[in-house]
Amino acid sequence: MKKIYGNRRLLSTLAGMRESGRTAHSLIFYGEKGSGRKLIADHYAAQLMCEAPVNGEPCGVCLSCRNVANMNHPDVIYVPTEGKLEGYTVKIARSVIKDAIVKPNNETGRKVYIFRDCRKMSTTTQNMLLKLIEEPPDHAYFIFTAESKYEFLPTIISRCVCFGVSPCTEEESEQALLESGFESSDVKAAVRCFHGNIGMCTEYISDTELRKRVDLTKRLADSIIGKDEYGLNLTLFSLGSSRNDIREVLSMTDKLFRDCAVLKREPDADMIGCYKEGAEQLSRMVTSNQAVRLHDRIERAWGAMEANVFPPLVLATLSAEIIEIVR
Ligand SMILES: [Zn+2]
Repeated sequence: MKKIYGNRRLLSTLAGMRESGRTAHSLIFYGEKGSGRKLIADHYAAQLMCEAPVNGEPCGVCLSCRNVANMNHPDVIYVPTEGKLEGYTVKIARSVIKDAIVKPNNETGRKVYIFRDCRKMSTTTQNMLLKLIEEPPDHAYFIFTAESKYEFLPTIISRCVCFGVSPCTEEESEQALLESGFESSDVKAAVRCFHGNIGMCTEYISDTELRKRVDLTKRLADSIIGKDEYGLNLTLFSLGSSRNDIREVLSMTDKLFRDCAVLKREPDADMIGCYKEGAEQLSRMVTSNQAVRLHDRIERAWGAMEANVFPPLVLATLSAEIIEIVR
């Protein structure tokens, strides 16, 4: 089984549920990308399926545990997505409802459905699933993971046990990455950018695309610091029109603005963004009010992206507004 770092309280609550036999049937694990929400979902599935749990924790050696770890347990079902938007469609929901009634044929008598990365699940799909999770068959469990619990309708949220998954400390993150066999210099560079978020640190080391996006975010910050509108436009447009890339860079830029705003009040605060020096420089040149406005503009650009506005238009507006603020 994969080791989970941090999130001690959450893990002990889950173990407590398993030990007392009061296992929740519907759960939402939410947290930022890379924070380990999917890992924890798998861990809970292993707890439910383990043939001989130890203090509520999966033993890690029985056949069920091994099958869950290898993602080939017949009764731990990773619900597939479909379509261009890779979403959970009405058709998928219908097949889950049909399948969930069928009793499993295993020692624990349980069956687990995992819906990973829920984003913009349609109201119709959610309402169909709502009926299922309101009165689940005794053997059926439903786990949802998402960046935010507000991806779900209030009616779904109120019927699920919701857990926020938090990033680890930088020390835990460093330890985890070194134990995974990464070079110490790579680990240090990754933790400098993504701190206690082990998933993002791992991606930073192993994926050149993410490193490019981090560099781009830094260039963007440098253009803002230099009040260089031309450079800022050039950097933003080099992003192309991939919505995912744009979202990721917007999110990293927003963290940088957040760091800049926090530094105005607490010079020794922990940073969450990927460019500490940039945030420090920026915080010396803007007022708190300007920092808040920068954050606000990113939120607006984010909203426009979600509303399917043409990406180049979103970026052009953002660039003009940022320069207007720092000018
Ligand atoms: Zn086991």
